[in-house]
Amino acid sequence: MAEKFKKILIANRGEIALRIIRTAREMGIKTVAIYSTADRESLHVRFADEAVCIGPPSSTDSYLSIPKIMAAVEITNADAVHPGYGFLSENADFAEICTEYGVKFIGPKPEHIRQMGDKITAKDTMIKAGVPVVPGDGELLKSVEDGLQQAEVMGYPVIIKATAGGGGKGMRMIAAPEEFQGAWDSARAEAKAAFGNDGMYMEKYITEPRHIEIQVVGDQYGKVIHLSERDCSVQRRHQKLLEECPSPFMTDELRERMGQAAIKAGEAINYEGVGTVEFLVDSDRNFYFMEMNTRIQVEHPVTEEVLDLDLIREQIKVAYGEHLTGMNYVPKGHAIECRINAEDPWNNFRPSPGKITSFHSSKGHGVRVDTHVYAGYTISPYYDSMIAKIIVRAPTRADAITKMERALNEFIIEGVKTTVPFHQWLMKQEDFREGNFDTGWLGQQTLPKG
Ligand code: ADP
Repeated sequence: MAEKFKKILIANRGEIALRIIRTAREMGIKTVAIYSTADRESLHVRFADEAVCIGPPSSTDSYLSIPKIMAAVEITNADAVHPGYGFLSENADFAEICTEYGVKFIGPKPEHIRQMGDKITAKDTMIKAGVPVVPGDGELLKSVEDGLQQAEVMGYPVIIKATAGGGGKGMRMIAAPEEFQGAWDSARAEAKAAFGNDGMYMEKYITEPRHIEIQVVGDQYGKVIHLSERDCSVQRRHQKLLEECPSPFMTDELRERMGQAAIKAGEAINYEGVGTVEFLVDSDRNFYFMEMNTRIQVEHPVTEEVLDLDLIREQIKVAYGEHLTGMNYVPKGHAIECRINAEDPWNNFRPSPGKITSFHSSKGHGVRVDTHVYAGYTISPYYDSMIAKIIVRAPTRADAITKMERALNEFIIEGVKTTVPFHQWLMKQEDFREGNFDTGWLGQQTLPKG
């Protein structure tokens, strides 16, 4: 039996920090929270065994500051670091520094993060492993002329994407040559602002695609299993708003093929830890590798609910060297997650930070709410606007939708605007109820006005 960690430092904040603290506590592992001065009153600070203030509100001076985090590791004597999602979770240098320092980074090896973090290298690796990828050679585009030429050969529609991209930023679909210049200028400007890198590459645009991803876990001994899929096709501007498992589009046969492809992807690099292999699936059920996320994802609870397992626990166990024992799991029942953001859905999803004056979370059978907020909590404009995740599970998809409607109606929050009304609207849409949507569906709908 591998020896478990004694103390995990959580290099994150918000609901995911709490989520990790809870599992660590159940495993008998001590936790250290880090926090910026804006998060002094946060629950993760109160629930952890120890807490260290690491700087001012700005992320660059706190949650992204490797020297400050390593100093916190040093003074608390933590033997492992959990990076959560976002922030430094996919920063290979951070993983490397942890390793050099003798603390375990709970995640894959630095070379895997590097390999998958660069979208072009990631696609090359998958092609070598025999996994189908989105057509496009991934070469950097030199100019508009170069792009126009490549698009002519590839055939429209195409999509241009930032190599450094993430969170749906820096990408534009182009249906015809006359749209090229405009899309090029705006995608590059967006990429430059968000990532400080405006390198762009081109892919074939998969029409009417569904975003279906496969959860994988690998141990330190070369074993990789898949934990079925999540459908994340309800998107606004390439950002996920709702996730579910099983995918309404899934068949046993497709799950088997996609699951095996994801395992091949993981085995090809000897992947260690939890990871997600993201695919686009067209209407003929052809699937194409898009990217691999080398961390725990926001939407992981959907998988936990249908498989009845704790993914954070699995992640921590493989990190301290336990062997994977389970086989590929099959989902039981249906789970849906709605992301509740402090944004005004009827005003272009404009951020709505501020103080929550009253709060009541949804509860009851089959309902789980992962959140770090409470009445009196102030949502800081410095960080992500996601304030809660409502997750339901029920025997069928129709039951899960009914339960989600009930849970959304019970979610009471005052003082800030949230995306609850959007999800209430979504649950009523015929196309959604019938499972009849792709990643472009939401963009084609007329949303109610506030
Ligand atoms: P990010 O890393 O920014 O999240 P992804 O590569 O994961 O970007 O893509 C995010 C979303 O963009 C996908 O879920 C899909 O909706 C859309 N997308 C990306 N590539 C393509 C493509 N080749 N064809 C069609 N849609 C795409």
